[in-house]
Amino acid sequence: MKTFKIRLKSKEMSNNNMSSFLVFDILEDFEFKTGQFVMLTVPADMGEVKRAYSIASPAYEAQKNYQFSIYVKKASQAGASKFLTQDIQPGQILEAKGPMGHFVDNEDTDKYLLISSGCGVGPVLAHYQRLKETQKYKKMVNIFGEKYVDEIVDSAKNKFTKDDSNTKSIFFFSREEELPDWSRKGYVQHALDEAIEFLEDNNIKVFVCGLPQMVDDIKQKLIDKGVDSNKIIFEKY
Ligand SMILES: Cc1cc2nc3c(=O)[nH]c(=O)nc-3n(C[C@H](O)[C@H](O)[C@H](O)COP(=O)(O)OP(=O)(O)OC[C@H]3O[C@@H](n4cnc5c(N)ncnc54)[C@H](O)[C@@H]3O)c2cc1C
Repeated sequence: MKTFKIRLKSKEMSNNNMSSFLVFDILEDFEFKTGQFVMLTVPADMGEVKRAYSIASPAYEAQKNYQFSIYVKKASQAGASKFLTQDIQPGQILEAKGPMGHFVDNEDTDKYLLISSGCGVGPVLAHYQRLKETQKYKKMVNIFGEKYVDEIVDSAKNKFTKDDSNTKSIFFFSREEELPDWSRKGYVQHALDEAIEFLEDNNIKVFVCGLPQMVDDIKQKLIDKGVDSNKIIFEKY
């Protein structure tokens, strides 16, 4: 683990201005595995705070471009997430420490189920891009959930590319009245049977990230459907 500096290169906000997708230049040597997180030191209104943020881009991209991204949702009025959504501007340098975390893929598998909600999308997006790039899978389903369409940052969402015969993405919005045609009303839990049907197997590896209650519920439901609990890799926040 090391301490190093990063500099904000670009920032894109969601339409409701509550979520940001931040791309940082990595200013010193730093290696990580896709799915890991860093501890950022943030000059927030409440004073300097250290908070964990998952890296939302795959490791190969960092090696190629010396960049990584994070996806942040505003969760406080004066804390790190307020700074990283409302205040930070390109050029700002932050201190990062890492890598940390076990939301990593230690062994390639044929079939993947990726599930995320809210700002949990970050490390799942990283795995999705890694799998699409390496093509070391036979089938993959990606399920994402949010309350409203305006809460997601377009460029992050658009990294979930078009479906093909091996890959399927399902987007849920739980409270949206005007659903875009690429989405459905409901919660990520609602598509588990459909996902297993598409994967034609319950011998799958699962990456699930989001609020603790959602992660626990998904884990139990998948175990009940015969998925091996050792193959459910999760991060809660
Ligand atoms: C391993 C890990 C990875 C993470 N990755 C990400 C990530 O990729 N993206 C991301 O967005 N977050 C991520 N988090 C969460 C992140 O670390 C912070 O906890 C989060 O951004 C909130 O930090 P904060 O300083 O803004 O809020 P804090 O000041 O720490 O407040 C924490 C909580 O207190 C409550 N709170 C604080 N102030 C108020 C207020 N004025 N009114 C009402 N409620 C309030 C909120 O519920 C808030 O969530 C991750 C956490 C972990 C453990």
